[in-house]
Amino acid sequence: MLTDTHCHLFYEELKNDLKNILLRANEMSVTRFICVGTNIEDSQECLSIAENNENIFSSVGVHPHDSKDIKEGYTDEIYELMEYESMIAIGEIGLDYYRNISPPEIQEKVFREQIEIAQDLNRPIIFHNRDADSDTIKVLSDYPEVIGVAHCFSSTLETAKAFLELGYYISFSGNITFKNSHLSEVVAEIPLDRVLVETDSPYLSPEPFRGKTNEPSRVRIVAEKLAEIKNIPFEEIAKHTHENASELFQLS
Ligand SMILES: [Zn+2]
Ligand SMILES: [Zn+2]
Repeated sequence: MLTDTHCHLFYEELKNDLKNILLRANEMSVTRFICVGTNIEDSQECLSIAENNENIFSSVGVHPHDSKDIKEGYTDEIYELMEYESMIAIGEIGLDYYRNISPPEIQEKVFREQIEIAQDLNRPIIFHNRDADSDTIKVLSDYPEVIGVAHCFSSTLETAKAFLELGYYISFSGNITFKNSHLSEVVAEIPLDRVLVETDSPYLSPEPFRGKTNEPSRVRIVAEKLAEIKNIPFEEIAKHTHENASELFQLS
């Protein structure tokens, strides 16, 4: 069995075809899903999808791109949403200096405020990091009790090691299947008890579907690629990543 630990099922193209998408996922042994929010409204959508579907869980968080749009009292809304049983993490939160849609200092402020909620509630975070390795490590280091996952990992091995040292899991997505990806080197070094898989659907479709709308069934391709790189049976990757998701997010 596989868990897609990061999908955005609230996007129209996925939400409108959810029944078929879940059927196709099940055919590929993808049986659990975490619908990850990127702002308060999306997170509410995630919650309603999760509350209406067994085996779909959700998270609430404000993405770095959305940080500039936070409203006063947004942290209270996060606390309220976290009261639901299917809400299992704070995310996605983080830093994105590649697009810098929100000013970096606002991104960091909002990132920290949300990590503090995770710390207070003793819940994991799902974080996004693009071109912000050193600041991300610096911020995470200030909250040694908090753990979580580096979603859609695309940085260097050195950064992966820093995240591991801080207690984080590393999640790989379709970009490990792209030609000339440097990520094979990273994958090879990550211990099996700290690896997760995700699609980040509808984005980042793996080869041979690159550029098309992604969906959770394709997390199978990511897991198969991990097995190939690590040179171990697919079943072993499936078992470890599924169990790791249970452990980190406290899923039964
Ligand atoms: Zn992201
Ligand atoms: Zn995402």
